[in-house]
Amino acid sequence: AMRKIAIYGKGGIGKSTTTQNTVAALAEMGKKVMVVGCDPKADSTRLLLGGLAQRSVLDTLREEGEDVELEDIRSGGFSETLCVESGGPEPGVGCAGRGIITSINMLEQLGAYDEENQLDYVFYDVLGDVVCGGFAMPIREGKAEEIYIVCSGEMMAMYAANNICKGILKFAETGVVRLGGLICNSRNCDREAEMIEEFASRLGTKMIHFVPRHNDVQRAEINRKTVIDWNADCEQAAEYRALASKIDANEMRVIPSPLEIEELEQLLMEYGLFE
Ligand code: ADP
Ligand code: SF4
Ligand code: MG
Repeated sequence: AMRKIAIYGKGGIGKSTTTQNTVAALAEMGKKVMVVGCDPKADSTRLLLGGLAQRSVLDTLREEGEDVELEDIRSGGFSETLCVESGGPEPGVGCAGRGIITSINMLEQLGAYDEENQLDYVFYDVLGDVVCGGFAMPIREGKAEEIYIVCSGEMMAMYAANNICKGILKFAETGVVRLGGLICNSRNCDREAEMIEEFASRLGTKMIHFVPRHNDVQRAEINRKTVIDWNADCEQAAEYRALASKIDANEMRVIPSPLEIEELEQLLMEYGLFE
């Protein structure tokens, strides 16, 4: 069956970068993957497409009305990946979260998830600083079943990850959503891997992979490519392959147990951030 994955995490933590690089590795393994960007910035598929998507779902709906075809909103990217950008509401008008659901419903109506597409995965790259009702929509509506949170050893990234866990907990009891794990996208903090492993274990999950910080990510990005597409033999490409394989093999799905803020601060102190 198709796995429905959403990537959450603090703004700027590396959700879009990590998603696309991981998806490139999954595609390289022969998996059929669709990426649905759920950020009004509409930059969730740039590295797979070799440039920003022509038009988002919400822009197309505004311009064409309901008479939309799948080819208008879905493009083929690196290694037969399928790419969609939800886009955003008119600035100052409407709820971005609602827009995401409108887009996903549109994709469903147009048959983007049907058997004939033979999808192994759909990845939702969701803007997730604030766990407002809007951005929790993909979780709440059962569109995403398996959540990975991108974080680092920086306090605000861990704080956001903990909040996202509160959001998952809220809907897990009545729905299908589960936490698949934490992805540490390194900011080179002290004892970062150890701390995130401990954080993950207290949340009831695990750190699925530690992605090192490397300038090859930017070098590929400047060329509008994922690392694998840009230089398949570099070390960072191997990291994304490792992450993709771990996600592909992961069977752990938990209802997270978020930390109290005091416990979170204690963890940061123990691991030397406040020294
Ligand atoms: P988000 O989608 O969470 O807002 P992005 O994926 O846009 O964040 O990442 C922000 C920036 O961080 C990007 O410009 C990217 O080049 C950089 N970045 C992300 N991950 C890494 C990494 N592992 N090493 C180096 N730079 C990274
Ligand atoms: Fe924006 Fe969230 Fe409010 Fe919707 S619910 S308008 S996404 S802040
Ligand atoms: Mg992003």
